[in-house]
Amino acid sequence: MSTKEEKMKKVRDEVLKLKESPLYEYRVENKYKPVIGQGSHDAKILFIGEAPGKKEAETGIPFCGASGKFLDELLAHINIPREEVYIANILKDRPPENRDPSREEIGLYTPFLERQIEIIEPKVIATLGRFAMDYIMRRYGLENEITKISDMHGKVYNAVGLSGEVKIVPLYHPAVAIYNSNNKAELKKDFEVLKSLI
Ligand code: URA
Repeated sequence: MSTKEEKMKKVRDEVLKLKESPLYEYRVENKYKPVIGQGSHDAKILFIGEAPGKKEAETGIPFCGASGKFLDELLAHINIPREEVYIANILKDRPPENRDPSREEIGLYTPFLERQIEIIEPKVIATLGRFAMDYIMRRYGLENEITKISDMHGKVYNAVGLSGEVKIVPLYHPAVAIYNSNNKAELKKDFEVLKSLI
């Protein structure tokens, strides 16, 4: 039986050589790194974003640019150190010009995310933005509950699957909230919901 670290390393090694990905060449040409995820393998909260941006692809660290700065502020708001949570994305490689993930890319990269969920076994999955929300809600059989993110954010959805019981909390993507003070205030309130669940 391999340890969580070994299993996560295997995920990393496989993504590194994922030549069948349409984003692989773009990664290599630009000397980008895949962004596997960061944080505790025993995290109670797993955050799932959309895809790495430029800064993330340059460093291999998720949410280390402008959105990441705001994510850090939100974590500080509820007194949870970044090292205690785990942060991953739907895609592990940066799409050119930060365009939306394609169906094919989502299909290729999400099996890795699912392995990460099985390794970490989080109590709470907090989705950041529409793509992660759609994917996770469907994955847990909650497709009938999907409406607008403006109606769903901050609500708690109980689900069973992959790693047993889990609470899913859709959130706005921090990038949206940076320029919209209403979203910013709502995200802060929604983070208080996360805190109440752990
Ligand atoms: N936006 C995301 O969705 N993920 C990151 O890692 C950075 C920005």
